[in-house]
Amino acid sequence: MKSRYKYRIYPNHIQRTKLNQLFGCCRYVWNQSLVYCNQLYAGGQKKPSYVDLTKQFITQAKKELLWLKDVASTPLQQSLKDLDQAYKNFFDSCTGKRKGIQVKPPQFKSRKSRQAARFVGVNYKIGQDKIYLPKVGKIKIFWSRKLPSQPSSVTIIKDSSNRYFASFVVETGAENLPKSGHSIGIDLGISTFATLSNSEKFEAPKPLKKNLKKLAKFQRKLAKKTPGTNRREKARLRVAKLHRKIQDIRTDFLHKLSTDLVRKYDVIVLEDLNVSGMVRNRKLAKAISDLGWRQFRTLTEAKCEKYGCEFRVIDRWEPTSQKCSHCGFKGGKKELNVREWTCLNCGTFHDRDINAAVNILNTQSVLETVNQPITKVETVKETVAKNPIQLSLFEEVAEGHSETIKRTRRKRQTGKPADSNDVSTRPESFVQLSLFD
Ligand SMILES: [Zn+2]
Repeated sequence: MKSRYKYRIYPNHIQRTKLNQLFGCCRYVWNQSLVYCNQLYAGGQKKPSYVDLTKQFITQAKKELLWLKDVASTPLQQSLKDLDQAYKNFFDSCTGKRKGIQVKPPQFKSRKSRQAARFVGVNYKIGQDKIYLPKVGKIKIFWSRKLPSQPSSVTIIKDSSNRYFASFVVETGAENLPKSGHSIGIDLGISTFATLSNSEKFEAPKPLKKNLKKLAKFQRKLAKKTPGTNRREKARLRVAKLHRKIQDIRTDFLHKLSTDLVRKYDVIVLEDLNVSGMVRNRKLAKAISDLGWRQFRTLTEAKCEKYGCEFRVIDRWEPTSQKCSHCGFKGGKKELNVREWTCLNCGTFHDRDINAAVNILNTQSVLETVNQPITKVETVKETVAKNPIQLSLFEEVAEGHSETIKRTRRKRQTGKPADSNDVSTRPESFVQLSLFD
């Protein structure tokens, strides 16, 4: 099993400049190749291979653009490999080979967003408190925990609040925890983050809600600054740092809760929530995004795999909040403000969330398998059915590509999703997983 181990690094002034140069070159190679691919696509040609792109945009380009020689070449190659993979993911998503959320075509990289460069092989060296990168030097690193084995690659990251990280990919074996013999059903909610089938309740920290006023103030100040000035950069950094703080509080809570659950229980059962659908409800979007349900599921699933627990997901159409967990009587749909109710059949008094959690645990017979996609995507199948399969892969996918663009345009015009099944607009940036990949 492959895991990611991320550590903070502290480059000095000169190293920062060198890293920025490296990020810039990676970005340049990616963007130029993407322009070229788009041109070929417009002319009805196939996408060039990784080898062709390397020849043209690294080997050939170095003869004309001497500054490309100032940085290590591995990250540049890796950048093109990433582009190749991005295209592959997009093609597979269009043809239905790749399940789950529909993948968008590769986008241009911006100087303003998060930056990354990857080193592989024997290119870099790890020391006691330093990491050596070719043409950058020895950077100070803080080993917050031990690396379990020799990493296969390291990605140097600069996030939007100007923090630097080294993220290693390492091979780890599954560590089986001692079996406890207990199973648990979990109901996720807005008022109470998680309710367990044994009546235990966990409140979420809701960091966004707490910092909303501050964030609005910072953003208002940022909007008033003239673009390109130092003051604007300072204001941008203040917003980015607050966002980072909010995200860190949320992630920390989710990590602790998921680890705790995996330690205590052998089988964990969750409900398959349609988070992207719920987030479309404007009144609830902010509150739901603040909780991080999807991140919780991703973390729990990854930790279950790592520690040898069983992770199950039940169908989202299962009437867990309608059914009485005592006698199985279906009391019909309940409004969200109904937190407690009494069963009309057997007279049992229920807490809404605990009842749902017990139902989730008991509905294991009709469970879905773990490896199924987080969200079933109907649109993918439709796109494939609409577009007859053509001989050239690039053209076939290109059809899907134009479809995506058309849909995005339509959306911009109307201001709402053109297709109710459309999943490409999902705001999911908050569920990025840093620990496990
Ligand atoms: Zn009942």
